[in-house]
Amino acid sequence: MSSRGDRLAALVAESELDFLLVTNLVNVRYLTGFTGTNGACVCGPEARIFLTDFRYTQRAKEEVDGWDVVTVADDWLGEIAERLAGKTGFEDDHMSVRTLERLKGKLPEGVEPVAAGGKVEQLRRVKDERELQAIAAASKLADEVWAWSLERGLAGRTERDVAGAAEARIRELGAKPSFPAIVAAGPNGALPHAEPGEREIGRGELVVFDMGAELDGYCSDGTRTFATGEPGEHAREVYGLVQAAQAAALEEVTAGVAGEAVDAVARKAIEAGGHGDRFGHGLGHGVGLEVHEAPRLSHRSEDVLMSGEVVTVEPGVYLPEELGVRIEDLVVVTEGRCRNLSGLPKDLQIVE
Ligand code: ZN
Ligand code: ZN
Repeated sequence: MSSRGDRLAALVAESELDFLLVTNLVNVRYLTGFTGTNGACVCGPEARIFLTDFRYTQRAKEEVDGWDVVTVADDWLGEIAERLAGKTGFEDDHMSVRTLERLKGKLPEGVEPVAAGGKVEQLRRVKDERELQAIAAASKLADEVWAWSLERGLAGRTERDVAGAAEARIRELGAKPSFPAIVAAGPNGALPHAEPGEREIGRGELVVFDMGAELDGYCSDGTRTFATGEPGEHAREVYGLVQAAQAAALEEVTAGVAGEAVDAVARKAIEAGGHGDRFGHGLGHGVGLEVHEAPRLSHRSEDVLMSGEVVTVEPGVYLPEELGVRIEDLVVVTEGRCRNLSGLPKDLQIVE
């Protein structure tokens, strides 16, 4: 029996549920290994049932381990419903209201649906050795693509060209971009989620370059801010502030510390530098099968870090119409100092 299924079954029992229906495909993949586009899991004390349709029977045979594979011929929700009993949790953060209503219409007598989203996400927080290796490999691949991108130069190219070329390079190396790369130069850098545009990158500008690779289903995420020639005193000052805040936050990352507390360290450093109101996002987030997952490192987070989690540490300062600086590392939480998966230097790099 799959150990992930067992861990989930324990969590289901702890939550006083009889069954959990898992419909979020990322969670289904985590539990079973299944990579197709239609599948669901029913998990209970004795039940490890994976359901898919005829298109995926063969793939399920190859991929799914530790779960009984059921091929549903026709009535998808009906066949799921008849395997449920008692208090049954469903992923309310994923299932649509319409699907829930249709499912309810098919549930056998006595089945009580209970909103129970986030359970598999809890399990996904702590990575095993294989997952850590996959994330580290994705991160290393992205590092190579940064080096490759810088060799080609930044100034004189459009943001879109730099981002597109980096994404193409990620694919050439056998991975996928884990999200659309962000390349935001000069004033565009002040928009934390800027979409790379037709603007030509000038000289003496700061360029925020945020990207990640997805390898074997696992994501990486990282950001560096480069300068295209001497960026001037103010830009250097802001860069130094973000770099110091990031270093201080990294020191704080260890098992047992609250995500909120790590965020606060970076936030205080940036406040002390006079830019507290220009760091408008949380410090970081978990990374795994998804590029944004639990836990959160932010002033609203209630998560406490656990050994084996992979999180980003990414403070930024965004000065409207002027510039942006963000430095983002991907790190593994341990009982001691975090293990940094990002291999790029952090002192300001001047790139032509
Ligand atoms: Zn991130
Ligand atoms: Zn990022």
